[in-house]
Amino acid sequence: MKGRIIIISAPSGCGKSTIINEIMNRGNVEMHFSVSATNRAPRPGETDGINYHFMTDDEFRRAIADDEFIEYEEVYPGRFYGTLKSEVENRCRNGQTVVLDIDVKGGLRVKEMYGDKARSIYIMPPSVEELRRRLESRATDSAEAINERVNKAEYELSFAPRYDVRVVNDDLATAVNDAEREIAQFIAG
Ligand code: ADP
Ligand code: 5GP
Repeated sequence: MKGRIIIISAPSGCGKSTIINEIMNRGNVEMHFSVSATNRAPRPGETDGINYHFMTDDEFRRAIADDEFIEYEEVYPGRFYGTLKSEVENRCRNGQTVVLDIDVKGGLRVKEMYGDKARSIYIMPPSVEELRRRLESRATDSAEAINERVNKAEYELSFAPRYDVRVVNDDLATAVNDAEREIAQFIAG
């Protein structure tokens, strides 16, 4: 059995977490979510160790110094996110499939590192206006954070052609089916 990496990227609010959770709940494909580390504050409803390993600035710096990351990025000014070796490497060696929710720069870097062992999937919003509506109705970010995320979306969308596949998240069930099919084919191949 070969270990595989599924890379999922998209601007914030496009539905990455929703789609990953739905595929994992369905249980048709066996994959493990890689819980990233971040120094951002937990949102209401987020749990340490489940959504992220929430770290202080110092803890994050120490993890960098101790070489604990496969990659990390400053995705927003002062806010760092990183993929921990401890979430990925053993599972891959054991032939398991690991799914990463990761920003565009990190996603391309991991694809470069893992080559054919990784499949990169870009979740596209129907439009940037719809993206803003979803972030507003998710109601987990301040108006300032929503503006920051929407403003960054156009830049992030310019990375979509460099991913292996693109899935449009307009109708959620269709997007989940498309992403699930893509992952199942990759694992089987
Ligand atoms: P991300 O993980 O990419 O930041 P989320 O999965 O948190 O995005 O989705 C952002 C918001 O949009 C959530 O409130 C989610 O319920 C909603 N959402 C996701 N997909 C759809 C869809 N196809 N149609 C409408 N709302 C959606
Ligand atoms: P959020 O704050 O909305 O949870 O995530 C913000 C961004 O950080 C998203 O684009 C998400 O994919 C990205 N992200 C989450 N974990 C990682 C990681 O481990 N590495 C990198 N490079 N980006 C990450």
